[in-house]
Parts: sequence; C-alpha cells; structure tokens
Amino acid sequence: MSLGLCHLHPECFEFPAYVTEQRENAVCLDRSFFYPGGGGQLPDRGVLRWATGQAEVIDIKSIDGKVWHVLNREDLPTHKVVGIVDKSFRLMMCQLHTDLHILNAIVFKHFRGALVTGVQMAEDGTARVDFDLPQVASADLRVLESEVNSVIEAGLPVRELFMPLDVALAEPGLIRSRSVAPPPQADGGVRIIEIEGLDRQACGGTHLTSTSDSAFIRILKIENKGQRNRRVRIRLDA
Ligand SMILES: [Zn+2]
Repeated sequence: MSLGLCHLHPECFEFPAYVTEQRENAVCLDRSFFYPGGGGQLPDRGVLRWATGQAEVIDIKSIDGKVWHVLNREDLPTHKVVGIVDKSFRLMMCQLHTDLHILNAIVFKHFRGALVTGVQMAEDGTARVDFDLPQVASADLRVLESEVNSVIEAGLPVRELFMPLDVALAEPGLIRSRSVAPPPQADGGVRIIEIEGLDRQACGGTHLTSTSDSAFIRILKIENKGQRNRRVRIRLDA
C-alpha cells in the first residue's frame, strides 16, 4: 500500500476537499485524510459536509487505485466538501493495532519466531490475531495478557521508519506475515513500525505514538483454527 495523508498527518481529523468523481453512493476526493483500511484495520468512519447537506462515510473502498468514500445517501455532493474523520473510532483502531503489535512481539519472542497468519480488528473494540503455533497450549498464550499490559503501562515510544526492501527482508521477524510481505513505497522503502526496545515490524496501518495511550487489554478467548493456527481474541478494557 502507498502512504496516504492519514499517515503523514495523523493529527488531522477535519479537512476541506473537492469531489472529483461520483458513482452510486460513493465519491472520490482530490485529497483525503481517511484511513482506507487494510492490514486487518478497518477503514475510518466519519462525515462529509457540503453547502446543502451532509452524509456519513460508512465505508471506504479502493478500486483501481481510486479511493471511494461510500456514503449513506445517494444524492451526492458535487463540489466542495469538508471531511470529518471520526476521531474516537480512529483512536480505537490505533489502540487495537498497537496492542496487536505488542502481543505479536511477545508471542514471537516466547515461541521462537511464531508467525502471524491473519489479523482482523472489529468496530466493537475487539480484535483477533492468528498465529502459526502448532504445539502451544491455550494456557501458555493466556498468561501473556499481563505481559502485554506491562508494556502498555511502560509508555514505550512508537515510531515509523523506512528501510530498503532487501534490508528489511534480511532482518529476522521484520516481515512477520507468513505469506505476504507489504509492498514497498514508490521509492523502494518499506515502512517499519518500531516500539522502542521491544519490536520492529513492517506495517501500513495507523498506530499510537506511545504504548501508554492505549487502554489495557483482556485476552477473551483462544481457539484452535486448524492444526497449526491459534486464534487469540482481545478486547480493549473499558
Ligand atoms: Zn501495524
């Protein structure tokens, strides 16, 4: 995925833009600070306002390189709009996403390089992550909850950096998805998310800047999905 304005300006939740294309109940904008979804993270929600109306952004779809903002009405804006990103939804996704990095770093460390085979965040403040862990008992994963929460409490800085693909591929654990390496940027650089002193991994999502900006997590459930997969479900603690 290529980096968008949501990565370059994660603090921007309201922006002016122009409609460049319409179809059915969706519009393209000349610029957008909405996260379009991907890597298990849901697309941003929010609102578009224009001179004579407003609509909720209920989904975002990337089709043929264009980012379509799907609206909850069919009479669409044609000209200037103001986009408003739902800040609390984005921050919930940033918490879940950062916490999954922490969990996955701890699993990687304890279970000798166990890889992630799938991840999905949900709008209810839960998320699931699948690990390739054929020999591990559920109880051995459940105990990691307190270790994750210790990292959250420690307030470790989280930052992004870029490195060439060949360098990224040479560092064990950096590209942790079993089959899919995230595509590099146009300049060949791979985006890496670093949690200081804990973890570095390639990722295209949005994250917190400190682990202590997250609520603590609960491990809700551990399921066996096939012979090799262990699925861990987490929830942000209220
Ligand atoms: Zn990430």
